[in-house]
Amino acid sequence: METKQLLFQHIEAHPTLPPEAVIKADLLRRGVVFDPEALIPAPGQGDTDPHQPKSYFIFSFNMVKQSELDEHSQWKAPEEIALHGGSLGLRRTVVSVRLNPESPYRVAVIEGQRWLTVDGEKLSQVTLPPMPPHYRDRLADGRPVAEIAPTIEWGYLIYLTVFRICQYFGEKEECQFCDINHNYREQIKAGRPYTGVKKPDDILAALDRIAATDGPAKAYTLTGGSITSKLGGMTELEFYMQYVEAIESRYPGRWISKVVTQAWPVEDVKRLKAAGTKIYHPNYEIWDRELFAKMCPGKDRYVGRDEWMRRIVDAATVFEPQYVIPNFVAGIEMAKPYGYDDVEVAVRSTQEGLDFFMAKGITPRFTTWCPEPNTPLGISNPDGAPLEYHLRLLEVYRDTMARHGLSAPQGYGEPGVGKAVFSVSPFMDVLPATN
Ligand code: SF4
Repeated sequence: METKQLLFQHIEAHPTLPPEAVIKADLLRRGVVFDPEALIPAPGQGDTDPHQPKSYFIFSFNMVKQSELDEHSQWKAPEEIALHGGSLGLRRTVVSVRLNPESPYRVAVIEGQRWLTVDGEKLSQVTLPPMPPHYRDRLADGRPVAEIAPTIEWGYLIYLTVFRICQYFGEKEECQFCDINHNYREQIKAGRPYTGVKKPDDILAALDRIAATDGPAKAYTLTGGSITSKLGGMTELEFYMQYVEAIESRYPGRWISKVVTQAWPVEDVKRLKAAGTKIYHPNYEIWDRELFAKMCPGKDRYVGRDEWMRRIVDAATVFEPQYVIPNFVAGIEMAKPYGYDDVEVAVRSTQEGLDFFMAKGITPRFTTWCPEPNTPLGISNPDGAPLEYHLRLLEVYRDTMARHGLSAPQGYGEPGVGKAVFSVSPFMDVLPATN
């Protein structure tokens, strides 16, 4: 059956989900391809400025290797696209760009306008993100500010990956869905400016430019790979703390500060909070105990699955529970050779984790798994998880939040279809709008 027919069947079968979320979920799991003319400015359309290019802000988030991309896709693909209009009258929906030359979804120029097509038929109009003003600047040493401090989510979030490598190294330690180390090597080989360890002064200089532009950024994420030994003589805590302290000293509270690291012992979490962090993301990736051990072997060996979950709960005694927002990777529950075969069983397992945390006021959130080709799970599951899994999860997530009386997590912009900007999963698109 053709993709379009399947897509419309899913829209019909899930009437409580907005069609926008169904399309976004499928786009994120299957990727998109661009016609070259869709990536050049279109004079006469009020679109004479170049758009914001994909920054590779932490992972590749592509379904093919860099070497399999043509020049246009490699350098000119946008960070995100916004869907709107079309025969379904879509409300604006921001979707992260995951490149896949084989995708049935294609962005093309038709009669002077950009369209998302599926199986060659028009589905919705497409807008590309405007170039943020700070993307034109360079640091004193010539490096682009965009590489040091890219923005995503239509400009809402400054994404600070200060360490582009993870010390969980190789197949026996790296999380089986994560291509951070592969991506770093590929970007360097491709000749992209890509700083392995960004210095606090680099970050401050980049933030100075952003602060001076009065752009739409409301939050920053500080993150990077795990540090299991030392980096520059510092422990993981010391390394990441230096950035929080530097940023919050110069710009106290200017942006919502979010830190994504491993799950730390509670004494370390206290220091993180005292330094000015507002939101803590100790990502647990997957709930199932056995799958955690198989898919996150490094985390399982160094910290342990039960201890990881315990630390998340402990963190909520330091931060208020709503400011502890651990991520999981939606779809890996169904990844061969370890995962579940049955959608409902996979969703039930994930729901058990949601109930565990949400009963304590902690709000997990999720990204849609991108089966990157350099990862063990991407190699054995090039098509990712079924669309039905992603849609059932959206329903269960929305309903579990409601049952526990929780509202949309902070630091993600507005919830609601037509308003959400969170681009790597449709979870914010399906939550009720706040106004
Ligand atoms: S801890 Fe796992 S998910 Fe995080 S960067 Fe390292 S390998 Fe990737």
